Amino acid sequence: MAKILIVEDEKSIADLIELNLSLTGHTCQWAPLAEDALKQTEDWQPDLILLDVMLPGRDGFELISELNRFDIPVIFLTARQSVVDKVQGLRLGAEDYITKPFEPAELLARIEVVLRRAGKSSGKLQICGVEINLMERSVSRRGQPVELTAQEYNLMEALVRNRNIALSREKLLETAWGFDFAGETRTVDIHIQRLRRKLDWENCLKTVYKYGYRLESDG
Ligand code: CA
Repeated sequence: MAKILIVEDEKSIADLIELNLSLTGHTCQWAPLAEDALKQTEDWQPDLILLDVMLPGRDGFELISELNRFDIPVIFLTARQSVVDKVQGLRLGAEDYITKPFEPAELLARIEVVLRRAGKSSGKLQICGVEINLMERSVSRRGQPVELTAQEYNLMEALVRNRNIALSREKLLETAWGFDFAGETRTVDIHIQRLRRKLDWENCLKTVYKYGYRLESDG
């Protein structure tokens, strides 16, 4: 997984981001100020930088022009919501823009997209004994291909991208079937049973009581 530098002056927010990123296998460093960010970028060479716009001293908009020379993708984080800021951020060279507060799942999904675009993510994962290639949408177990339907695959991908995080049935429906799918949450339960059987995930695909599911993985 990737090395991600979190440039954010509010430690509680940085901690929360780091917790979510490390659960999904990313390595993080925290830089509270622009000066730290420049030094850590130089020394540590992260794969991606999450950059808060509102920093004391030099702000994110000033900092990104200095970070551009490292050729590392940047995603802006900000509490501001104005379209002007968004346009300015993207014009200055950011790959994406996330408005706080955001859901961990949204942050992770956007990070994955930016990493893939930058060629920093091979899309290959090894989770609970199953090899997954997100680029090819292929799955195998002990070298043997596993056939999943499109819906089973989408559900698995949602769980994999948010591994170690509990996802509600509603969230899984929304992510794997799309917003306009008029299905019932029971559909999720049925597909989870199939995934457990096909992937031999009885132990790592946990039921979260009265809520949903969580895929537990060290990888
Ligand atoms: Ca801030």
